[in-house]
Amino acid sequence: HAKMAGRRRVSIFGAQMDDAIQNRAAIEAELREALRTKTGLSVVYQPKYAIDGVRMLGAEALVRWQHPERGPISPAVFIPVAEEANLIADLGLWVLETACRDAMDWPVEHLAVNVSPVQLRSAGFAETVFAALAKVGFPASRLELEVTETDFADAEEIGVENIKTLTAAGIAIAIDDFGTGSSTFERLREISFDRIKIDRSFVKNITESEGDAELVRAMISMAHAKGLKTTAEGVETAEQRDILRSFGCDELQGYLLGKPMPPTQLIQVFGAGLAATAAM
Ligand code: C2E
Ligand code: MG
Ligand code: MG
Ligand code: MG
Repeated sequence: HAKMAGRRRVSIFGAQMDDAIQNRAAIEAELREALRTKTGLSVVYQPKYAIDGVRMLGAEALVRWQHPERGPISPAVFIPVAEEANLIADLGLWVLETACRDAMDWPVEHLAVNVSPVQLRSAGFAETVFAALAKVGFPASRLELEVTETDFADAEEIGVENIKTLTAAGIAIAIDDFGTGSSTFERLREISFDRIKIDRSFVKNITESEGDAELVRAMISMAHAKGLKTTAEGVETAEQRDILRSFGCDELQGYLLGKPMPPTQLIQVFGAGLAATAAM
């Protein structure tokens, strides 16, 4: 009986695997088509605020894909597909150009764009970024690229070279999801970067866990000692904001302050901010 059950389990698992593979193949084909026709893809922007919660310092571009039948598909699902299907270079470039065009006249210090490790590790990536900036006329000094910490841990020579070339041109580098990766301090010493973005999982626990609060405090002071700026990701409550403020965190991002939104809506937020400042 045990053997039968075991075999049945295996076959059910096998069927699920087949479904997953088919689903993935379909997503890949549909994403390729979406990218070719530029339909269903868009870029939304999440504001990044100074610690006062009033001054908007920047905005982070986040790609969206609205599938005609499946509805919205999360980037957490389709970015890995794009990476494996050799579509990430095209997708990443499209996001970068779209974001630079959108953000051209925005009254913020920086535009942040996420970069896949696959892009970062490809030869000529830095030059691709420069070409995109030149095409749109967006200044390098206003661009910040976000790379996840894990990517630094196993960054190869090309990745390190790309980062050096980008930073030499005035582009800022932020380490995304800081605290979740496995970067050695030696690795971090080798690469020059500008900001750490403290992962949402730490921010989430900051009010409940003394340990996590201490870790966040330590991350912020370590970053400051190294001359780096700090951004807290996923700030959802006023309590979290207040603790982060007491720790001297530089920048806040999260649903408490603003969700990712289309550019038309973000422009209205600028308007409201300016009105608030004028009224003071
Ligand atoms: P990320 O760069 O760490 O972006 C933060 C994610 O957290 C975003 O999810 C954002 O919508 C979400 N978020 C922001 N504030 C809050 C909050 O207060 N609470 C909660 N629960 N979530 C919050 P999203 O847009 O689904 O993106 C997921 C990930 O996909 C991103 O993580 C990034 O790694 C990747 N991604 C998104 N757009 C791009 C892109 O254009 N290129 C690349 N390579 N990756 C991208
Ligand atoms: Mg990011
Ligand atoms: Mg993040
Ligand atoms: Mg992430």
